[in-house]
Amino acid sequence: MNTRFDAIIIGAGPAGSTAAILLARAGWSVALVEKQRFPRRKVCGECLAASNLPLLDALGIGAEFDASAGPELRQVALMQGQRTFIADLPAADPPNRAWGRALGRETLDTLLLAQARASGAVVFQPWSVLALGGSVGDHRCDIRAIGSDHREMLHAPVLIAAHGSWEPLPTGRAERRLARQPGDLFAFKANFRHASLAPGLLPVLSFEGGYGGMVLADQGLTTLACCIREDRLEACRRLNPGLSAGDAVEAFLKQACHGVAQALGPAQREGAWLATGPIDPGIRLQAGDAQFRIGNAAGEAHPIIGEGMSMAMQSAWLLCAQLLQSDGASDGLADSAWQSEVRRSYAAEWRRHFAPRLRLAASLAHLAMRPGLTSPWLGLLGRWPVLMTQGARRGGKVSCAISPATVSWLAAGVSARCARPAAATPAHRDPG
Ligand SMILES: Cc1cc2nc3c(=O)[nH]c(=O)nc-3n(C[C@H](O)[C@H](O)[C@H](O)COP(=O)(O)OP(=O)(O)OC[C@H]3O[C@@H](n4cnc5c(N)ncnc54)[C@H](O)[C@@H]3O)c2cc1C
Repeated sequence: MNTRFDAIIIGAGPAGSTAAILLARAGWSVALVEKQRFPRRKVCGECLAASNLPLLDALGIGAEFDASAGPELRQVALMQGQRTFIADLPAADPPNRAWGRALGRETLDTLLLAQARASGAVVFQPWSVLALGGSVGDHRCDIRAIGSDHREMLHAPVLIAAHGSWEPLPTGRAERRLARQPGDLFAFKANFRHASLAPGLLPVLSFEGGYGGMVLADQGLTTLACCIREDRLEACRRLNPGLSAGDAVEAFLKQACHGVAQALGPAQREGAWLATGPIDPGIRLQAGDAQFRIGNAAGEAHPIIGEGMSMAMQSAWLLCAQLLQSDGASDGLADSAWQSEVRRSYAAEWRRHFAPRLRLAASLAHLAMRPGLTSPWLGLLGRWPVLMTQGARRGGKVSCAISPATVSWLAAGVSARCARPAAATPAHRDPG
């Protein structure tokens, strides 16, 4: 088995698979390591903003997405207590890709991973990363097949962390706060059949101690996902002894939010409640990193704006654009000065595009979790629904971090290195 690659990517969520497709298409040898078997359900609201649809087209899975995803999302709502406010969502460009849609993660992630494999990435699945070693330009990745003792040591000059934010990588770097606090947010998600949610409506839920969202996704299933403070979760469980945490949250949401009770009234849950947490929104990029970070591994917004998959996919495009536009100008992919420069310019681009979304999401999340504070002001939304339309626009629903020219260039699979004469191709490309 070949164990030497140009790049190792850890994690095959939207970020990792996107990067694998783009790099493999450009002629890099890529190892993609994913520890879970697909298809798998995942805690997520499953709404993909319209700004990503041209990216899916360029990755070659736009048609499959269209064939599977739920209805076009044309309106946003805020549901708090007895009240519901509805506004139009902004339309994106181009006109044939104006509206976001929702697709279960079991389908979306499987489509992306299949495309990574078809593009030439070598997929290790289900394999888990046990340890990382080496240094910039000379990474070692110790992986083990799940359910067996089979281990391999992968080598590559470029290492990309796309492992999400819920589990740390074995790097030694502390990735999350260890001390638990009452304000820690736990995330829940369930799917429901026969819910009465209007197709194309994207309600945001605001309730004491948390926030969430609902959407009609693929196969007629409605997804409900939410984040809830640990102290509120404990209170829900005390009120509903004997219920699982997910069932206790469902009972609380139906009681706290009329819109949820109405939508789920006739519904039957399909599959179990999923839970994870605590989530830890914030920026994780650091100047001293040896690896490149994309998706939630680079930074995470409060999911109230439903932009995590956008940031995951778009950060992969941003990084790959940086890697591929200059990979022929360096002394090879192992060149640490070249990697530092790519890391610096990628981090600057990441912050420029995504840091404002993180700040907006944090403000909205803290307001949504305090209905006592926000309730008196909600009348403004009734009078000026355009405020919600503008909020969705500022949250990133229609703006893509990748220019159409970059999309075309990366989709074509051309890197600066490919343009170099063969004699100048760095020696390390040959795994021997
Ligand atoms: C409640 C909630 C609702 C949300 N709603 C939305 C929404 O509506 N729209 C939206 O765009 N975003 C939403 N998000 C955010 C979105 O789910 C994430 O931002 C997105 O999944 C991040 O993608 P990623 O590729 O970075 O990581 P992930 O999707 O987390 O993928 C990481 C992958 O890495 C693998 N992995 C981890 N560790 C290892 C290891 N050691 N070895 C091998 N593999 C490993 C994991 O198995 C996983 O498959 C929501 C999040 C929450 C919590």
